[in-house]
Amino acid sequence: MGITGYIHSVESFGTLDGPGVRYVLFLQGCGLRCLYCHNPDTWNPSCGKAVDSEQVAADIVSYRNFIRTGGIAISGGEPFLQPEFVVDLLQRCRKNAIHTAVDTAGSVPLSISKPIIDAADMLLLDIKSLDEELCKRLTGQGPENTLATLDYCEQTKKRVWLRHVLVPGLTLDKALLEEMADYLRFFSCIELTELLPFHKMGEFKWKELNLQYELGETPAPSKEELQMVKRIFEKNSLRYLLKE
Ligand code: SF4
Repeated sequence: MGITGYIHSVESFGTLDGPGVRYVLFLQGCGLRCLYCHNPDTWNPSCGKAVDSEQVAADIVSYRNFIRTGGIAISGGEPFLQPEFVVDLLQRCRKNAIHTAVDTAGSVPLSISKPIIDAADMLLLDIKSLDEELCKRLTGQGPENTLATLDYCEQTKKRVWLRHVLVPGLTLDKALLEEMADYLRFFSCIELTELLPFHKMGEFKWKELNLQYELGETPAPSKEELQMVKRIFEKNSLRYLLKE
């Protein structure tokens, strides 16, 4: 018998969450309300499907040959909101030599998230904005917990792939990106920064849930804007991946 967790869905062969092919478990529940969220159906914690960590681990092990180039990724929602379940699952994967990545916005205090970070092989850490006001506007919360998470990863030499969404008129701003690049270059734990151009593929879900989607008029980033972002990251010798 393992620990009960609440999931939204499973993708057996994910290629978008961390290195290699991964079994991706999307957990239910998130405390943030990102304006550009493409999974608002994961927000409500009471809508999840209850699963047992022992059974999930057995299912993951049955895919071992298919995910040998990667491992698993625990995504969401926000995995840090179910620490007991996530730690137990990560430990079971480790016992079976399956590589683990946790995809998080780092939105809870370290007092809760440390055991998860310690048990994971790597984090996929989503930085929304370094700017307090903008971060609150984008997500409903400031960046302090995310930045403390990053500091802890640096301290413990945890491997990190960072993520940052480029939203025209919000985060896609030369001064903000220069500030971010300057901040990030001091972290040796960051192996790669994935820069994700804003898109509206999740807009229909907001409508289905009767939620107001504020970014309906926001365009996708232009080629020139993306070139500008590349120049900033290159100038700071940061390893990045821009998914155009
Ligand atoms: S942290 Fe992720 S799941 Fe939560 S609101 Fe933001 S984008 Fe959506």
